[in-house]
Amino acid sequence: MTEFKRIGVLTSGGDAPGMNAAVRAVTRSALLCGVEVMGIYGGYQGLMDDDMKLFTSRDVAGIISHGGTILYSARAAEFKTEEGMAKAISVCRKNHIDGLVVIGGDGTFRGATDLSVRGIKTVGIPGTIDNDISSTDYTIGFDTAMNTVIELIDKIRDTCESHARCDVVEVMGRNAGDIAIQTGLATGAVAVAVGELPFDEEAAIERIKKARNNGKRNFIVVVAEGKKNFAEGFTTRIEERTGVESRFTRLGHVQRGGSPTLRDRVTASLMGQFAVDKLFEGQSDIVVCERNSKIVAMNIGFALNVDKMFKNKLTDEDKAKISPEDLRKMEEICLERQAKKMQLYNTARITCV
Ligand code: ATP
Repeated sequence: MTEFKRIGVLTSGGDAPGMNAAVRAVTRSALLCGVEVMGIYGGYQGLMDDDMKLFTSRDVAGIISHGGTILYSARAAEFKTEEGMAKAISVCRKNHIDGLVVIGGDGTFRGATDLSVRGIKTVGIPGTIDNDISSTDYTIGFDTAMNTVIELIDKIRDTCESHARCDVVEVMGRNAGDIAIQTGLATGAVAVAVGELPFDEEAAIERIKKARNNGKRNFIVVVAEGKKNFAEGFTTRIEERTGVESRFTRLGHVQRGGSPTLRDRVTASLMGQFAVDKLFEGQSDIVVCERNSKIVAMNIGFALNVDKMFKNKLTDEDKAKISPEDLRKMEEICLERQAKKMQLYNTARITCV
């Protein structure tokens, strides 16, 4: 038995394939417990605007294979203000919503904390193709985006082979190089450049020259969008320094769409059901994470601090407010994450030619 009578579900921030599978799992898990579900349209903007609909199981039928989000998404600056927050709370009260599951990125989780402290029990689910939420090993949409990237790069590589060309391909990921590293490895890129790790341009150029002299005809370089103002200039330098005709391709938003892969459908479903379980246990202000292949719950404040620590943004002032035990746990998560990233990066470098 649960104290809840009605919960809401919304998707917020950038969309990601698999969000629909999460919405479906949240809806059906709650309905099975006799709890009603409001589908809230357009993220926190829709919450403030009272744009929602009571969902039946049929409302989430046939969506598990669809990209995007049937609930739509939006960025809502007003929600960060006291007035916006007050509007959202009063809409929740008016519609008898006593719990919320929000699917999005770290901005969405900050909003979830704000709602939690004001009495609306809220649980977050990580949905972004970027895999840039450091508290979780995996974010919904990451696998689909990477599969889209490798499919496209494989095609580019075919034409590079025919014409003996190089193509520098810029992939998404915001400030995280996770998409670039894994797709670079999986497509046999001759070099992978990401914002958060040093890149030896000279070594990459020499590698291309040597491989070309050994008879290699196609050269793929994968660059993360987080390596700012680099990819186009590097394309020119490759051509000038190696004599290999070089092109630049920015894959863009094609990476955000498409039918979710099995990995995303399954993970989103597990996370959706887990979020509802935790909510009905009375938990709030938590985010669902995947850690070492297990679905776990993490306090949002802790998760946001892990993220800051991983991105070297945790100040001494922040650290002073965190217990030594939590700091140790945070360091462990960051070290594991960094080790996984380095392993992939090194394997990409070692196996590329
Ligand atoms: P993505 O990683 O895909 O960008 P995100 O969830 O981080 O996803 P944001 O645009 O940062 O995307 O946040 C989504 C929404 O969450 C914002 O439009 C805003 O309504 C709310 N939000 C963001 N930051 C805060 C905050 N500090 N306090 C309250 N609400 C916030």
